[in-house]
Amino acid sequence: MKRDGSIVRIGIDLGGSNIAAGLLDIDGGLAYKCKVKTDTSSESAVLRGLADVVFDVMHACGLDAGIIDSIGVACPGAVNSERGIVEYSANLPLCGADIRTALSSAVCVDADKVRIANDADAAALGEYRAGVGKGTENFMLVTLGTGVGAGCICGGKMLSGRGHSAGELGHTVIVYGGEQCACGRRGCAEQYCSASALKRQTKAKIEACERDGIFTSMKKLVADNGGRISARTAFIAAADSDTAAREVVDAYISYLSCMLTNFINIFAPEVLAIGGGVSGEGERLLAPLRERVYGEMYDRKRPRELYTRIECAALGNDAGIVGAAMI
Ligand SMILES: [Zn+2]
Repeated sequence: MKRDGSIVRIGIDLGGSNIAAGLLDIDGGLAYKCKVKTDTSSESAVLRGLADVVFDVMHACGLDAGIIDSIGVACPGAVNSERGIVEYSANLPLCGADIRTALSSAVCVDADKVRIANDADAAALGEYRAGVGKGTENFMLVTLGTGVGAGCICGGKMLSGRGHSAGELGHTVIVYGGEQCACGRRGCAEQYCSASALKRQTKAKIEACERDGIFTSMKKLVADNGGRISARTAFIAAADSDTAAREVVDAYISYLSCMLTNFINIFAPEVLAIGGGVSGEGERLLAPLRERVYGEMYDRKRPRELYTRIECAALGNDAGIVGAAMI
């Protein structure tokens, strides 16, 4: 099933929980997608999962190996794209794994057709080519999820750095001597701006309200959600004029605007896109965030049309697959 002149590109987003894959269509969307749980027990188990999703796409779309033009894999960690190797991964047993050789031989596709990139870079590439960054030269995607991820395109080129380690922007400090981070430093942006951090901040506020006998509607929201605090809890209650929730949201947006203003002062992107779970808040998040960032950034006295546009990512959870297919 190869349409005349079309390029058959498969993208894989390798995550700590799931391996998602898809077939890219002609417009940069996904003609088909699938996912499996990531078996993190060993390197070979992860590699088997990668081959499984490729076989799933091939089977569902009626493709044989010979007509596949490229397979891109978005991997967490420090990725050597030239050699097709994961040099370092904190969360998956892939340190030194030769993804290119293993996957190409498992699915019978030439090795030079298998490409790999860091997952945040791949998502940024997807948004840059097919999403909210289309038409720009300088673009960055910041994802607010379990951690803070970032991919940065400067002058049309992906920022990669020594040892493919550039762009770990979640581990820049915004509170000197602040909360302990898993990377070893204190006060990293990730400890204040990730979705996990927002949940911790929400939990602490609910506990403080309980202790001080102050009413907050967040308590009922959590009870209605099976006892689970989500990154949405404070935003929902704040929209309903809950004072305690408003304080959580305001503090969170202060941290976030501090981090993003730093990024804008360093990289001056035309568009800075926000992805990950928290970006689901849309304008409830963006409007106050723009106000603060535009009031703080270094070149705020320039004409407004030269400001960095702050937008939500457009491709959602598919950015990694789409970007991987475009590597
Ligand atoms: Zn850190």
